[in-house]
Amino acid sequence: MIDSTKIREDFPILHQKINGNPFVYFDNASTSQKPKVVVEAITDYYYRYNANVHRGLYKISAMATEAYDNARKKVADFIGAAPQEVIFTSGTTASINLVANSWGQENLKENDIVVLSEMEHHSNIVPWHLLQKRLGFKIHFLQVDEDGSLQLDDLAEKCKGAKLVSITHVSNTLGTVNPVEEIVKTAHANGAKVLIDGAQAVPHMAIDVKKIGCDFYAFSGHKMCGPTGVGILWGREQLLESMPPFLGGGSMIDEVHLDYSTYAQLPNKFEAGTMNIAQAIGLGVAVDYLQEIGLDNITAHEQQLTEVALEKLKSLDVQIIGNAQNRVGVISFAMNRIHPHDISTILDHEGVAIRAGHHCTQLLMRKFAVPATTRASFYFYNTIEEIDQFVKGLQKVKEMFR
Ligand code: PLP
Repeated sequence: MIDSTKIREDFPILHQKINGNPFVYFDNASTSQKPKVVVEAITDYYYRYNANVHRGLYKISAMATEAYDNARKKVADFIGAAPQEVIFTSGTTASINLVANSWGQENLKENDIVVLSEMEHHSNIVPWHLLQKRLGFKIHFLQVDEDGSLQLDDLAEKCKGAKLVSITHVSNTLGTVNPVEEIVKTAHANGAKVLIDGAQAVPHMAIDVKKIGCDFYAFSGHKMCGPTGVGILWGREQLLESMPPFLGGGSMIDEVHLDYSTYAQLPNKFEAGTMNIAQAIGLGVAVDYLQEIGLDNITAHEQQLTEVALEKLKSLDVQIIGNAQNRVGVISFAMNRIHPHDISTILDHEGVAIRAGHHCTQLLMRKFAVPATTRASFYFYNTIEEIDQFVKGLQKVKEMFR
């Protein structure tokens, strides 16, 4: 189980006072905090062996190359993949844009169908809108039920003739965990490829891409204790082999001639230019760190926090937006007539950082007929005492707006 006191020693940022109160960080769906080992690994790279990778024939370049390649191996092991199937990108957004601009550009035509859902983050909608403008395919949306779960009754119908189903594993606004294995089965039975947006899943639960059975899986380092500026696109090897590069430049080539270029093997084909070396190394250390705590322990701890928070929120008469049975510790809510920005500002006075806004899910805001929600999202270093401080803050909000 999680020893919160011990774990919190790894996160100096959590030990400060904000507006005179202990700092409570409940905006983990946006980005997570970073343990000392990750920050130290990045500093260590810059202090001791800052050099480009795969290029220099000298000691520190070899050290940087080894650390970078090792980070890829760690990430691959973490998600049950082979290293050559793991592409470093700058984050989930970049990973999805890579698939759209490489696989999508090559394989989608006018009148083809792409299936998304109403609970997608904008980064799994806008790249498809941009591509749709160029290629003219259709987009079908799976709908969201009142309880925040995906409507899957018409999944097979919507997948008929589809070339791609691109769906989030976990909603960053509702916390809903989608049955991705079932979605993959239905999509594949209809001949569609499947991309899973795992930005909110990988930090919180053990993921095995082979078990899920999807074709692409995208996630971000900064939501799982890693630094910003690094993320992952996992893809099936054969599929990645068949795809053209998205970005052209140094490191991704085999040969360059006057009138044509040939490309490097995986994964380099998709890693043009100087990559985010320090960040990739930091992500590798974040993976080690999460594995040491244990993903099952993380899931269980967050489940407990979520249950306690939902129970305590009942006494405040807040409206939980979507509360699917299979959910993680992301809680969106509304308080009668009080704007989320006011709630957020008052909570900040109490030292509690939460998120107010549309959370890059405007389709969901329209679905639930709210302009914005207040969102609290937990990670393994959060505690029940922090939930008490959060609930106390909300009581103040209620009193102020009485
Ligand atoms: N997808 C989901 C579900 C997210 O929650 C986020 C970020 O909040 C993203 C995609 C985009 O991630 P990034 O901004 O790291 O590219």
